[in-house]
Amino acid sequence: MAWKIRGRVIENPKMKEYTSMRVGGPARYLVFPRDESDLLETLKIFENEGIKWRMLGNGTNVIVSDSGINEALIKITDLKHFSLIESKKEVVLRVSGGYSLKDLILEMAKIGLGGLENLYSIPGTVGGAIKMNAGSFGLSIGDVVRKVTYVSSDLSRKELRREEIDFSYRHSPFLSNMCIIEAELLLLRKDKKRIMAEIERLSEERKKRHPLEFPSAGSIFKAVNGVPAWRYIERAGLKGLRIGDACVSEKHPNFIVNLGEAKASDVKSLIDKIKKEVFEREGVVLEEEVELWGFDD
Ligand SMILES: Cc1cc2nc3c(=O)[nH]c(=O)nc-3n(C[C@H](O)[C@H](O)[C@H](O)COP(=O)(O)OP(=O)(O)OC[C@H]3O[C@@H](n4cnc5c(N)ncnc54)[C@H](O)[C@@H]3O)c2cc1C
Repeated sequence: MAWKIRGRVIENPKMKEYTSMRVGGPARYLVFPRDESDLLETLKIFENEGIKWRMLGNGTNVIVSDSGINEALIKITDLKHFSLIESKKEVVLRVSGGYSLKDLILEMAKIGLGGLENLYSIPGTVGGAIKMNAGSFGLSIGDVVRKVTYVSSDLSRKELRREEIDFSYRHSPFLSNMCIIEAELLLLRKDKKRIMAEIERLSEERKKRHPLEFPSAGSIFKAVNGVPAWRYIERAGLKGLRIGDACVSEKHPNFIVNLGEAKASDVKSLIDKIKKEVFEREGVVLEEEVELWGFDD
């Protein structure tokens, strides 16, 4: 196919190279638009060619099947910009959806702007975090969102203000084929050293509790009525359970870690096994927090 866009296009990208779980077969295309007009051009091509597409952020909350997905993926991590709207009352950050949360939080700390420190350990992009309403240490990104701008398949640019967005626990109304290109987040003026000290403290906490030494997709299951899923998985005696190289982490049993050569099918079998065992032993239905792409059921 002749591509009229300026950004990179990869045909049949292996998704194990673009997801933190390090498993998964090919997608149809992976496109990195260079700017917003490039993004619109990409969407026009997909529309004309009848190609299904969805967004990929840093791939830290998705598990793609070994056979892959017959869809194109758009990754806007090359669109990286932010600006500040400051008034006496507040500081609003306008930032592109492809910006990495970690980079952004560090960048803001340098200029004495905080308020997002609790989200520092989330390895995703701003767009991915908004789609998932990602959160940690009691703060969800929806709590600090003021406005979201997105582009959908009809190529129109739409804006939603916070009060129009129905965020709930790990849920937003945005779909994978609505491209969140920009968001406004509320920040707080703070002392730089205090922000950095807080980031370091929370990162240390995370290192103690999470198996960050292995590839994973973070927490696999959502909490159930406020009770963290790891409690049920631990009580069901599933810590260390292994299928192929996919293993229920001993350190944090809501993480499945890839010990080296795990296949997506190993991860999926382990997810199914955990759900079955937890239901049988605890009477609790676990629901995935991760997205499973390209699996049939
Ligand atoms: C080690 C580790 C720790 C983690 N800790 C946490 C945590 O504490 N709290 C938490 O909530 N999550 C956590 N996660 C999960 C994950 O990082 C978050 O869900 C994150 O927000 C996903 O962002 P992403 O950019 O990687 O999105 P992806 O995984 O690439 O995509 C996730 C979803 O967002 C959509 N999407 C991505 N970008 C856009 C966009 N621009 N516009 C519209 N839709 C988009 C995708 O289509 C997909 O539906 C963790 C993951 C790992 C690996």
